[in-house]
Amino acid sequence: MSYQSVNPYNGKILRSFKELTDKQLDKSLATAEAGFEIWRRATFAERATVAGKAAALLRTQAEAFARLATLEMGKLIGEARGEVMLSADIIDYYAKNAERFLAPQRLKPSSGQAVVENAPFGVLFGVQPWNFPYYQLARFAAPNLMAGNVVMVKHAGCVPQCAIAFEKLWREAGAPAGAYTNLPISYDQVGRVIDDPRIRGVALTGSAEAGKSVAARAGRNLKKSTMELGGSDAFIVLEDADLDQTVKWAVWAKMNNMGQCCVAGKRFIVVEKLADRFLEKFQNALAAFTPGDPLDPATTLGPLSTEAALVKLLDQIKQAVAKGAKLVMGGKRIDRPGSFMQPTILTDIKPGNPAFREEFFGPVALFFRVKNEDEAVALANDSDFGLGGSVFTRNVARGKRVASRINTGMVFINHPTWTAADLPFGGIKNSGYGHELSSAGIQEFVNKKLIRVASINASA
Ligand code: NAP
Repeated sequence: MSYQSVNPYNGKILRSFKELTDKQLDKSLATAEAGFEIWRRATFAERATVAGKAAALLRTQAEAFARLATLEMGKLIGEARGEVMLSADIIDYYAKNAERFLAPQRLKPSSGQAVVENAPFGVLFGVQPWNFPYYQLARFAAPNLMAGNVVMVKHAGCVPQCAIAFEKLWREAGAPAGAYTNLPISYDQVGRVIDDPRIRGVALTGSAEAGKSVAARAGRNLKKSTMELGGSDAFIVLEDADLDQTVKWAVWAKMNNMGQCCVAGKRFIVVEKLADRFLEKFQNALAAFTPGDPLDPATTLGPLSTEAALVKLLDQIKQAVAKGAKLVMGGKRIDRPGSFMQPTILTDIKPGNPAFREEFFGPVALFFRVKNEDEAVALANDSDFGLGGSVFTRNVARGKRVASRINTGMVFINHPTWTAADLPFGGIKNSGYGHELSSAGIQEFVNKKLIRVASINASA
């Protein structure tokens, strides 16, 4: 069963869902197409009323939404509450700003008049991951709905109840039928949806492998796509960093969402002068995490999202060690029910070790010692990914210089890479292309349509 809620805290199956039949899928596509004809005619104010209501409902029902995420994918309840609020903020942000972001742009041509309007594309298709089961949906749905598009979403198989709850939210907020559609479908059906002429754009957030498959299919159909893919972000510590504060953020960068973030700190690159002290403090802090029920607010170490995620991570660690990496701590599953992983640090990862290039999606830190800033930048850039990264230094001007030399879509100074409604989010290389959030996120699936008024008597 590919759409199944399993509580990773104890392995219990909560609910199973059938995939849509092809007939049901066709009906959903027809409803979305009809929904677009209604929704595109709504004014920004009318759309904002619906979006504002959706955000308000998320806030008033935050506890129920948060609990569902914790039960389905093991997120600590406090983090789940934070995610629900962030999702509401994103929806509110687009409700408030969409009209301004998409205001027609008057040009000043050498003669006559010209204006660029922003018209919606139509029905969009999104494929989304489980790691932030509402935030990912909000950052795809909110800008696109506010632009007048309608959205159909294939959510990850392990969070079917979150997917249904988010669809229900939009109907309760007053969106017309077909404005937001949840599609529990197979990979074959994903291909069929992308091929369908009613679909006008495709957005995927997930692994590079899924991205290659979905982007290729969209490309074959000449459909615009955006790809928000994996990463192996560098967390660079320069010799003038505030060590205690930096370690605090390193722990957050690694352990937030149990390390299952695209922009989690994955490669900790520390200049020699601080390396030993950093490693010792980092290790001590990670050792203090204790496993427990993620619904209990006192728990600091929750399970990974699924048993399969844990097995994959354990296998990556085994391969890394077989190729010469050293385990400083952890590396094993925790001996208790559920899919719990020990916080882990690996060192001595040389080029040629698969760990040097792979993404580790969990509480596994890859630690590198470098001589200086130049070596740190070179190592950070020696990656197939290009999503985020961070630089820790007391000298902000120096931090900015280093940030400019790092080849990724986002670099933060004195903070791990993170997200907010008003900051653009996106990567380069195997981390994908295109942007979500901020003004950039609402511009991806709109037709920048030129309307030109010329004098009929103008010379040809
Ligand atoms: P994933 O396996 O690629 O799955 C993501 C979504 O794609 C799921 O809905 C999945 O469906 C679907 N999918 C996977 N392969 C597919 C295929 N061949 N055809 C059609 N659909 C396919 O990724 P994940 O393990 O859930 O999520 C973790 C990855 O996402 C990490 O690499 C992480 O860095 C990345 N991520 C990136 C961002 C960003 O903004 N850049 C944000 C969050 C996560 P099923 O669940 O049914 O398999």
